[in-house]
Amino acid sequence: MGKRYPVLNIDIKKLVNNARIITEKCNENGIDTACVIKGYNGIPEVAEEMAKCGCSQVASSRIDQLKDVKLRGMAMDTLLLRIPMMSELEEVIRYADISLNSQRETLVELDRMAVENNTKHRVILMRDLGDLREGIFDRDEFIETACFIENSLKGLVLEGIGTNLSCYGSVAPTEKNLSMLVEDAEEIEKLIDRKLRYVSGGATTTLPLFYRNKLPKGINHLRLGESIICAMDLPLYWDTDIEGLEKGVFTMDAQIIEIRRKPSYPIGEKCVNAFGETPEYEDRGIRLRALLAVGNRDVGDYSSLEPIDEGVELVGASSDHLIVDIEEAGREYAIGDIMKFNMYYQAVLFASDNRLMNIELNR
Ligand SMILES: *Cc1c(COP(=O)(O)O)cnc(C)c1O
Repeated sequence: MGKRYPVLNIDIKKLVNNARIITEKCNENGIDTACVIKGYNGIPEVAEEMAKCGCSQVASSRIDQLKDVKLRGMAMDTLLLRIPMMSELEEVIRYADISLNSQRETLVELDRMAVENNTKHRVILMRDLGDLREGIFDRDEFIETACFIENSLKGLVLEGIGTNLSCYGSVAPTEKNLSMLVEDAEEIEKLIDRKLRYVSGGATTTLPLFYRNKLPKGINHLRLGESIICAMDLPLYWDTDIEGLEKGVFTMDAQIIEIRRKPSYPIGEKCVNAFGETPEYEDRGIRLRALLAVGNRDVGDYSSLEPIDEGVELVGASSDHLIVDIEEAGREYAIGDIMKFNMYYQAVLFASDNRLMNIELNR
């Protein structure tokens, strides 16, 4: 049998290049980084390469992915990004060296297990500065909880504090909100009479502030995934272009199964599409289109793809089909031809965790 499609191509050289550029710039400014592997399902071979960039931890929201990193024998600290579930604490102790936390009940139980296992587990306590996903919102409660970990939970080490922004509430990291985190750190350090190892100032979305030299002094840790794996996201959403970052770490190849000239406006009584939605259709007359054997099931929403071939336009998709307009394409296509796409974060996220996708690493 020949090559199977669709293919998810992973360009390791580009990934390592991007990871190095960002990590080195952070390190030069006294900032440690955690390389976040959840965006590509933590594929261990890829995580291993990404981790060679000089980062301090390998991080994921999923403990299973950190377990794979450890079982692969990688000698890296692992960082669990999602507040642990009560049902996974045993694995957290075993496979995560550090975890982000916000809940006292969970911390108490985590402490009990660490003591039971004769080990120390490091935690970063999360403050919510307005994005309203995880973290302690009330400042007094936050500082009290930090001291509680330091003074009462002997199986835990308070490694530092952190925050997460622009995830739920679309709140941007700013000098103002991140300065609050630095002030919290100073207050806690006074109360516990020692320095905190980390003040973790967010994810990829904190990079624009950092690259504009506006990151408050005192932030010394960032947790970075998206900027490394999808270099197209920062310019698009954050108006930040980091020199040297390469697009195309992840690309997808899909095969053409139909090529026909068809009207661009659907014919018949209007109802709903495959997803119960009623999209707008533009009437552009009769157009040459190609149908590809890939769909939203593979990439989340098809709009997270970007055709690489000149003049190809996305038209629409259902679960297993993608329609592209090739009327003005720079070349001719035949049935069985392969079309290539750049991928935004969502497409990488879905495609990398899809057993129908043929994953190829290019070194
Ligand atoms: C996913 C996640 C990150 C990394 O986000 P990117 O946008 O991929 O850089 C950092 N911190 C937390 C808490 C996360 O959940």
